[in-house]
Amino acid sequence: MKFNKNKIVIVGSGLAALATAARLCELGERDIAIYAKEYGATPYVAAINFVLPDNKYGDTPEQYYLDMMTAGYGINNKKLVEEIAFNTFRGYELLKRWDVEFAKNEDGSIKLRHLSGHTFPRSLCCTSELIGVQIIDRMVDKLKKRGVKFYLGCECVKLITDEERVYGITIKEKNGQLYNVYSPVVVAAWGGIGNLFAKSTYPSDIKGNTLAIAWEAGAKMVDLEFLEYEPMVVLYPEGAAGEPCPTAMLGEGAYLINTEGERFLLKVRPQGEAGAPKTLINREIWKQVNSGKGTAHGGVFVDLRHIPTEVLKSYPWFYNRMIKNGVDPNKELIEVGPMAHSFSGGIFVNENFESTIKGLFAVGEACGGVHGACRCAGNAASVAVLSGLLCAESIVNKNYSDVLNEFPIEYYENKKVSETYIPMVKELAAKVLGPYRKGEDLQEANEILTELLNNKEVKEDTETYQTIISIMLMIRAALYREESRGTHFRIDYPFERDEFKIQILL
Ligand SMILES: Cc1cc2nc3c(=O)[nH]c(=O)nc-3n(C[C@H](O)[C@H](O)[C@H](O)COP(=O)(O)OP(=O)(O)OC[C@H]3O[C@@H](n4cnc5c(N)ncnc54)[C@H](O)[C@@H]3O)c2cc1C
Repeated sequence: MKFNKNKIVIVGSGLAALATAARLCELGERDIAIYAKEYGATPYVAAINFVLPDNKYGDTPEQYYLDMMTAGYGINNKKLVEEIAFNTFRGYELLKRWDVEFAKNEDGSIKLRHLSGHTFPRSLCCTSELIGVQIIDRMVDKLKKRGVKFYLGCECVKLITDEERVYGITIKEKNGQLYNVYSPVVVAAWGGIGNLFAKSTYPSDIKGNTLAIAWEAGAKMVDLEFLEYEPMVVLYPEGAAGEPCPTAMLGEGAYLINTEGERFLLKVRPQGEAGAPKTLINREIWKQVNSGKGTAHGGVFVDLRHIPTEVLKSYPWFYNRMIKNGVDPNKELIEVGPMAHSFSGGIFVNENFESTIKGLFAVGEACGGVHGACRCAGNAASVAVLSGLLCAESIVNKNYSDVLNEFPIEYYENKKVSETYIPMVKELAAKVLGPYRKGEDLQEANEILTELLNNKEVKEDTETYQTIISIMLMIRAALYREESRGTHFRIDYPFERDEFKIQILL
């Protein structure tokens, strides 16, 4: 039977995977194989945060640390936050060494944007295209030249583990062929969970059944209730729906208004919309919609009409998509609202980004704990870079014994089963795991899914089984967290204890 063997296997080819591979190459590793479906959410990345030395705002890694803890409602894994904050400049340097270029101001300094959740402007970007597209273009080519093997169109359907260590992964190719890849080191860089939901901003290669893959392999999971809703996703017209209006626009002077023309955010944030945390924006939009001041498609308006066209054009992916769909942001209000987006939970890791299973690492959106209950905007990308860098350094400093045995492949497919159940459970996830959750609904959904898992038919299709488990893990986490915190808002227990807790934890 076909199988492959590598010293280091990375699952995914997004930013976290590329950063891991890049640092491994720099440290002299040669036998690195990347198995991935496509490039995940990385090509959509517009903003990435780093604290640069001598910035004109007086920003520091300490302030960055505090901003992450505050945005995370104090329940972030402090050690991980420290690693990300205090190594921030090393992440920037890594990308620079791999030819990534950031937009500059006229005086030659790096352009810094002010994103939600940050005290200071510290978000780097590219103004001619999405920075994520550039990262893929530049890094993949270079990594290939350095000998990293890329196997695209390959889906990891299982982690091969026992209770202690990892032995490799099971791959399914596009043509359906299944085989094992053996390795003493596996890095899960498989991104978030967007497509566990009927509607999300995420591309189709981010299915989200990876939660179950890790959980079934015995890895400890963390913070699974914290799914972020992107607050300003375009709701109309159809052709532009799903495109996030960057929250950085609020830093450029945009504001949100309800159907009565009120700048409703100012009531809760008198200092202005710039830098407002996404959770706050989501909540206030929800209040407007619930009080009958929402738009026809269940959102509010973003007003960009007064923003100079050149500034709007420096977000070309957004501006061009609007214009292409007949919307001129300088002339019209745009309907926006929350949509399922990035994930703060995932595989539990230590400060080396190693999971509770020896040799199994998790980086980028696949790992949980850094962001706590909510992440600062632009920080998913920063964490992808830093976690990759730190994980690579940890891998080369340890010894992992070779995999000597072979393992059977356990994977089942039944198209009829997947077509019947997957859309149904995704609808259920969207219904009960929305930005606002109710214990009763979560409980009911948990019972429905438990019953489904007992249905023999469901086990005839591994992906269906994994999808149900993944949604169930999130539902259970949301059920157990009774208070509202960060991106998890319980409408049956709306009391928020976070302000108090944050002060204690900081
Ligand atoms: C529209 C949009 C805009 C965004 N904008 C920003 C932004 O401006 N700033 C920011 O910080 N974050 C942003 N995010 C979030 C950010 O894109 C992700 O958090 C980031 O890309 C995570 O990097 P990653 O490498 O961990 O995962 P990804 O980039 O998602 O890569 C995951 C990789 O794993 C592969 N994969 C998944 N499952 C499997 C499997 N079972 N087997 C094999 N391969 C698999 C995928 O094909 C892909 O290669 C945005 C997300 C979206 C959708």
